[in-house]
Amino acid sequence: MAADRRARALREGRRALKARPFGRSGPAPQGDLKARLTAAARAGGAGALRVCSAEADAPTRERFGAALERGDLATWPYDRAYAERAASPATLLPNARSIVCVALPYATQPPNARAPLRGRVSNYAWSADYHTIMRALLEAIAAILDDAAGEPATRIVCDTAPIAERAFAQRAGLGWVGKHTNVIVPRLGSYVFLGEVVTTVALDADAPLRTSCGSCARCVTACPTGALRGDYTIDATRCISDLTQRRDAIPVALRPLMGDWVWGCDLCQDACPPTQRAGRVGASAFRAPAGSAVFPDLQRLLASSTRALARELRGTALAWRGGTVVRRNAAVALGNSLDRAAVPALAAALAGDRAALVRGHSAWALGRIGSPSALCALSAAAGEERSYDVRSEIARALEPFGRMATLGSAEVDG
Ligand code: SF4
Ligand code: SF4
Repeated sequence: MAADRRARALREGRRALKARPFGRSGPAPQGDLKARLTAAARAGGAGALRVCSAEADAPTRERFGAALERGDLATWPYDRAYAERAASPATLLPNARSIVCVALPYATQPPNARAPLRGRVSNYAWSADYHTIMRALLEAIAAILDDAAGEPATRIVCDTAPIAERAFAQRAGLGWVGKHTNVIVPRLGSYVFLGEVVTTVALDADAPLRTSCGSCARCVTACPTGALRGDYTIDATRCISDLTQRRDAIPVALRPLMGDWVWGCDLCQDACPPTQRAGRVGASAFRAPAGSAVFPDLQRLLASSTRALARELRGTALAWRGGTVVRRNAAVALGNSLDRAAVPALAAALAGDRAALVRGHSAWALGRIGSPSALCALSAAAGEERSYDVRSEIARALEPFGRMATLGSAEVDG
């Protein structure tokens, strides 16, 4: 009986027409199975659904290998074995035949109000964790496929297992990978979360798009750190988004280029014409919450305990690396404000934060501001600090000011 149901489902799947991103003109998709998958995706908030074969993706192996050799991923725990698994859906689900790829748009309008000494958070991290919404919609798709197969026939992937989701999204024609290395979905832009259902059901594959970035390079120009090479590759060790997520010290040369970003960075996507044309089409669930989630108060973040930050940021992307990383990022952003009003908060962090990482970056920030009271705080801390790393940061921060710094602050900031 189950075999009959599965055979019927497979026949349905083969009859199913090429799925189209929602809203494209032309005849509606035919075929019950694909139409049901599309309807389920739409009901779950997805903006597009496409299907590709689950054959291993050889170009992913090559690209990943080249990135590893260049050191682009040096700050992440990836290796060739990871690349191999990510390129081979069969490692997730034996006998995998197809992958259903969905795009969930999330760009929403940020509040207009900006105040001094505020940081910036990337759009993807504004609101509650997207995984809940994505998981629910992938489960709905998987249930249809399991039902059609008459047996468990799916594995959902929502940031939970290695899969080269951008490569498979491109293969499925969901979009194309732009020079900023994000998938650009027609009419939705690149502010999309990707999710996949790997299945043993053989569905008709959709065709890849015949689109590319052409001669456009706006994202490359917009990137302040030179992370984008313009050849569709990225040096992730220079990307602000990655810098805000690493757990160790941020390279000194890159700190001034991070601006006010506390978590993530949207500059290349904001500069991207197809993404601009798409507008802020994210679901209401991704609307910016009230309060300061988009432009957080940097001094308050820096002064918050790890426990308080865990409570405040629970359920958001910012909670992922813990409060120490968030305070470190706040210190860098305060330094980049060049605002003397930030000195008391930075001086307090240098003198009293429990984490050497935060004290060290606060020292850097005080040196970047370089006001008399900032130098005074640095000089005072130099005699007290026990951590070698922080003492080094203090010494480096004071270095450009030479003897003036050792005299302390005879002047008053103003
Ligand atoms: S996210 Fe920011 S730093 Fe990273 S590549 Fe884009 S513009 Fe550059
Ligand atoms: S800004 Fe231009 S080059 Fe960069 S991803 Fe967008 S379309 Fe492609």
